[in-house]
Amino acid sequence: MSKLSILIIEDEKNICNFIKATLKPQGYKIITATSAAEGLSIINSGSCDVVLLDLGLPDMDGLEVIKQVRTWSSLPIIIISARTKEQEKVQALDLGADDYITKPFGTAELMARIRTALRHSNRLESDDELCKRPYTSGALTIDFDKRLVLLNGESVHLTQIEFKIISLLARNAGKVLTYDAILTHVWGPYIEQNNQILRVNMANVRRKLEKNPAEPEYLFTEVGIGYRMAEET
Ligand code: CA
Repeated sequence: MSKLSILIIEDEKNICNFIKATLKPQGYKIITATSAAEGLSIINSGSCDVVLLDLGLPDMDGLEVIKQVRTWSSLPIIIISARTKEQEKVQALDLGADDYITKPFGTAELMARIRTALRHSNRLESDDELCKRPYTSGALTIDFDKRLVLLNGESVHLTQIEFKIISLLARNAGKVLTYDAILTHVWGPYIEQNNQILRVNMANVRRKLEKNPAEPEYLFTEVGIGYRMAEET
């Protein structure tokens, strides 16, 4: 089996080196680029499976890189971003980036993001089968086909909207979804971009599913960005 190759587009040497040192022992092939132009030409040559992309590049805005790649490819893109730049992360995700990691990040977080991105990119190709399979994490099971949510084996009553939200998040388990992405998916494209309605529904879902909503096991808040559901176990 050939190694999966990961392209890092990042102009900060120390971050590049850290990622390289982290991923190499995991059996990935690592390719690095220090500018957007260099990165784009590697992507265009089709020689990588995942891209880790810094948004602050010397020659081009990273958002522009996402736009260009998304005109022709669904290659997984994970953003490397600074902690304070929520708006930038949201923009990147809404332009089609798959996820983000915030500097400084640890090995476990980096590995989890890459695994999730790879899983979801494979899923696109065999969509049907996997979507029918129930989601399970800890004591929570969601059966999409039967529209059933079980917690510790007991059925949990959710409203239709609540079920739609949680199904969307569960089908994208491990991946962050922005407020806008969830609103559009659940309420349709003409919903006013009003996060309040989503917050209220999420609070209700959490009350029904989480033992302690302040320390969630299944539904995580990404402040200023959106929500992420626990990976399957
Ligand atoms: Ca940079």
